[in-house]
Amino acid sequence: MTDSLSTKPGPTAEACDPPRHSGRTTQGKNPERSREHNRRVVLELLRRGGSLGRKELADMANISTQAVTNIIDDLLAEKLLLDLGRKRTLRGLPPIQYAINPDGAITIGLEIAVGSLTAAVLDLGGNPRSVEQIALPDMTASVVLTIIGDVVARLRVKYAAPLMGIGVVMPGPFEIEGLSGVGPTTLPDWSEVDAVEALTQTCGVPVFVDNDANAAAVAEMLFGKGQNVSHFCMLYFGAGIGMGAILADQPLRGAFGNAGEIGHIVVETNGLLCQCGQLGCLERYVSLHALTEAMTRDGVIPDSAALIRLYDDRDPAILAWLDQAAPYLARMISLLENIFDPQTMILGGKMPEAILEDLIARLKIPTSVANRRLRALPRVQRGHSNENTAALGAAALPFFNAITPQLHLPQDQASL
Ligand SMILES: [Zn+2]
Repeated sequence: MTDSLSTKPGPTAEACDPPRHSGRTTQGKNPERSREHNRRVVLELLRRGGSLGRKELADMANISTQAVTNIIDDLLAEKLLLDLGRKRTLRGLPPIQYAINPDGAITIGLEIAVGSLTAAVLDLGGNPRSVEQIALPDMTASVVLTIIGDVVARLRVKYAAPLMGIGVVMPGPFEIEGLSGVGPTTLPDWSEVDAVEALTQTCGVPVFVDNDANAAAVAEMLFGKGQNVSHFCMLYFGAGIGMGAILADQPLRGAFGNAGEIGHIVVETNGLLCQCGQLGCLERYVSLHALTEAMTRDGVIPDSAALIRLYDDRDPAILAWLDQAAPYLARMISLLENIFDPQTMILGGKMPEAILEDLIARLKIPTSVANRRLRALPRVQRGHSNENTAALGAAALPFFNAITPQLHLPQDQASL
C-alpha cells in the first residue's frame, strides 16, 4: 500500500467555481440503445455521490426509475454494486441505498520506464492495493511484453476480483521524428510495434495506452484534486514535464496523442541544449531531470531520497535551482491559463512533494484570464505526487473508460 491517491470525497460541486460551460455528462438518455451510456451515468453518479437510492439516481440522471432498476440489477449481478439496505428516514418507507463495491473489480496500471516497470493495482473504489517495481534488463518490445505478461498473470492470481482492464503509461511523444531524446530511442524497436494490439494480445483484457501526464490528469479527475472539476490542467513532472488537460470532463489528447507536450516548448532564446536538439526547452529548466542535473556532484546523480535530504538541509544549490526554475514555470502557467481557461492548475508527478510545494510557493504568475476576483479554487495546487503516480494514473485509465460517460458515444459519432 502507498499513501497515494486520496479516496476521500472531493470538494462538492457547489464549492468548485462552477464553469460557464460545464459539459457535464451525468445526464442519462432514455432510449434502450443508450443503455450503455445510462449505465456509465449511474456508475459515475454513485462514484461521485457515495451511496444513492433508485429514485435519486433516476432524478439526477434524468432517466426513468425502471431504467435505473434494470441497470442496478445488472450491476448487482456483476458484483459491481453493493446493496446497503434501507436508509433510516423520519417517515415513509426509506429507499434502498446502493454504492460502488470496491471489491467488485480491479485494474492494473503499468508504467514502462527505461530500466524498470512499475505495476499498480487499484480496486473499484480507487484504493491502491499494491505497487511494485520490476527491473527491465532489456527494453526491446519482445522482452518487455514477456515480463508484462508474467506480471499480469501473477497479479490476476493474487487478486480474485475480475480484472476490468489495464492502463499503460509509456514515454511519449508518439510518432514524432526529431524528438529522439524522449521518443523512440528510449524504447528501441517499439516504433515498429502496435503497442495497444501487442499488449491486448499479451494480457487478454482491454488495454489503454496513454502518456504519463494524461494518465495523471485522469487519476486526479477520478480520485484526486480534479474531482468535480470539469476543466483543469495537470502539469506532470516525470523525467521531463508534460501537461494533461481535462476539458469539459474529457482528456485532451490531440490528433496523435501528443497534446500537452509542453516540455519542448522553447522558453529561452539560445538557452541550454536539449536532448531534442533545440536550445532552451522548458524541461531544461523545470523538470526532475534538470533538478537532478543541477544537483549532481562529482558524477554522483542524486536519487529522490538524496534530493529530499538536500532540500531538508536547505542546500543553497537546490534553493538557487528553485529560484531559477519558478519564473519559467510561472510564465508557462499563465500561457496555459490563457489558452485553456481552466478552473485550476494541478501540479504533481515524481518531483518530491516538499520540493514541489516550495516551487509552487515561489511562483509569481503573470496576469492571465485566471485573474478572477471570485475564485473558488486555487489558481495552482499540488496534486498527487510520488514515484508511483504514473502507474496509479495508468490504473485509472480503464476506470475512466468503463465508468465515466463519454460525450461522444459510438451512436453519437455516427451522426457527426
Ligand atoms: Zn527539447
